[in-house]
Amino acid sequence: MRAQDAGRRAQDADMRAQDAGRRSLGADTAAVGWRGSLASRGMDLIAVTPRLHLLRFDVGQCYLWRDDHGLTLVDSGPRGSGDEIADAVERIGGSRAALHTVVVTHGHGDHTGSLAEIRRWSDAPVLAHELEADCVGGDRAPSPPVLEEWERPLYARVEEHLAGPPAPVDATVAHGDVLYGGLRVLHVPGHTEGSIALYEPDHRVLFTGDTLAEHDGAVIPGVFNRDRTELMRSIRALSELDVETLCFGHGDPVVRAAGAALRRLVA
Ligand SMILES: [Zn+2]
Ligand SMILES: [Zn+2]
Repeated sequence: MRAQDAGRRAQDADMRAQDAGRRSLGADTAAVGWRGSLASRGMDLIAVTPRLHLLRFDVGQCYLWRDDHGLTLVDSGPRGSGDEIADAVERIGGSRAALHTVVVTHGHGDHTGSLAEIRRWSDAPVLAHELEADCVGGDRAPSPPVLEEWERPLYARVEEHLAGPPAPVDATVAHGDVLYGGLRVLHVPGHTEGSIALYEPDHRVLFTGDTLAEHDGAVIPGVFNRDRTELMRSIRALSELDVETLCFGHGDPVVRAAGAALRRLVA
């Protein structure tokens, strides 16, 4: 009986989250960071905290995280962003050599699109989850999402950005791995099979990839998911972390008391 109640509560929370997503997204490409114009307008470089920069492109975004050894790039932006990322690394880290690690949260092209370009100027190893590396490397197409009805118009307009040019992965990572510099790997399947989140416990920063997104100040589940039930299970697991700063694949980071926003989403 108690298990049934818990199941029902989980279902209710999922319905509320879906409603919030539907309300905030509509069929508008400006939603969850898919900004209106797909024509190139260049990159915005935004200091989120002293250690964290957001690199925002016309479609998609990525992050530079600074630890005591140098910089980690979390995701690589869409195709064509490699030079702008190089400039950002130089400005923040002093030289391109400051970049010591490149890690992608999953294999969609708006997160992997510039990996091949970055390889031309950086020796930093490229990391992806073991279930996603073949997709990043171009040996497998991204699994198509199971779309909710309300997601279809939006998806039709951004679908072309979900496959990126292939780039080799130097090493695969798995749940529990700790990267050079201290980021912890959390396997959060649902958006894709091999989606990961990255957690830095000392500064309580969480990079969610597309497992979560932000829109209009609200934290919402990511869109275009392969398995929504699994996604909500992953979000529930993330909500148990002690988090101050939340960084999404789409939308503005939450810089204060982010854990409370996360817990509200699954309450
Ligand atoms: Zn994605
Ligand atoms: Zn994305």
